[in-house]
Amino acid sequence: MSGFEEIDCASQTDVGVRRSHNQDARVLMPAGDPEQWQQRGHVVLVADGMGGHAVGELASKLAVDNIPHVYSKHAAEGPLIALRRAFVEANLTIHNRGRQNREFHGMGTTATALVLRPEGAWIGHVGDSRAYRIRGGAIEQLSFDHSWLWELARHRGVTPEELERQGVPTNRITRSLGPEPLVQVDVEGPHPILPGDTFLLCSDGLSGEVTDREIGAVAGALPPAEACRFLVLLANLQGGRDNVTVAIARVRGELPAEGLNGALDAAASPSPWASRARAAAGRIPWGLALLLLGIALAIGAIALGSTHRPGALLVFISAGVSLLTGLLVLLLQSLREGGADQADEETPRPPPIYRRTLCPTDEPLLERLARATATLHADVEARGWHYEAPTYHEQLAQATRLRALGQLPDAFRAQCRAMLVLMEAVHLQRGKEEAFNPLWDRPAP
Ligand code: CA
Repeated sequence: MSGFEEIDCASQTDVGVRRSHNQDARVLMPAGDPEQWQQRGHVVLVADGMGGHAVGELASKLAVDNIPHVYSKHAAEGPLIALRRAFVEANLTIHNRGRQNREFHGMGTTATALVLRPEGAWIGHVGDSRAYRIRGGAIEQLSFDHSWLWELARHRGVTPEELERQGVPTNRITRSLGPEPLVQVDVEGPHPILPGDTFLLCSDGLSGEVTDREIGAVAGALPPAEACRFLVLLANLQGGRDNVTVAIARVRGELPAEGLNGALDAAASPSPWASRARAAAGRIPWGLALLLLGIALAIGAIALGSTHRPGALLVFISAGVSLLTGLLVLLLQSLREGGADQADEETPRPPPIYRRTLCPTDEPLLERLARATATLHADVEARGWHYEAPTYHEQLAQATRLRALGQLPDAFRAQCRAMLVLMEAVHLQRGKEEAFNPLWDRPAP
């Protein structure tokens, strides 16, 4: 990525269907000129406040006010230092505010920041809001959920999905800004940026209602502003149990064909959850085995010698050779590992990608979306709700035509736009009648 002008960004927040207040906050701070782009880059941040309603709102507001400001002030020191400092200072500000006022005691917020800079994308992160990158038909989660579920999964070396299936609760978070004077902050990057990359930040009000697959397909297909609107309304349609916030930054241009292949290859790579255990299992302690053999031989030699049997000398020499070789191998291994650790510190490791899901705009996805649109259309008609019928029919006809021609990404976009018209109609009726849920990416029960 070379220039500051090559990005489109948008954001949306909504109170959701069940809550009375919106405790989420977000900010978009794109670089205004090439100089700012070089100095600090584009900054996007999502925060999800918790506590009583006014309390959570204040906490998330303090995060979006403080973090970009402090980061920008220290950006010249590099993103690692500047982002960490911004989070640590925001944490203290929120914590101190909580101590000044008894009503605000214990207030907290998540915060997930994305910084796009000339050398790549950086994530600063505390809590369970998320940062994703969508590229080449795959969606990658770049942030680690600081939730009990994810921490337990990491500890046990299994995926969060496996624990979720076992009934481990998904909504308990382990880290946030505010409750404690000190906080551990994840700052990870730089993730390489390619033309056409879409970065998306969201609160759990989106990721709790809409699957990664759905998020990836929609954010990859629609322009940022439309994608934000679609995803917020889709979360509400699926239940809207929490405040919903989405922010999207899209790098202009198209992904070259070889980049696409690379992205799909990477999608097939092994999961990060098991790699550490495998690496440890792959190391066989040869030195230790030789030492043990040497000790066993020495005991044998002593036994043979004490009974004056022949061959004791030969066994004794073998024991000596085994022990010496074992010691030598152990020494060499420890030297090599020391060198490897040093090399790891010198060459920065690629930042982690915690989860990868393919999200192609294929025929099954289009079919599900078409069915959901038809169900929603029938409901809206049956209730006599007003909707932009000409736009709806025009987009639907276009989707059908493009789908028949096999132009699936274009067909998906048109189908989304038809659905969006209906979701806007439902949105206007919110609070007047109960909502309904066409679960368009769920397997039939
Ligand atoms: Ca939330």
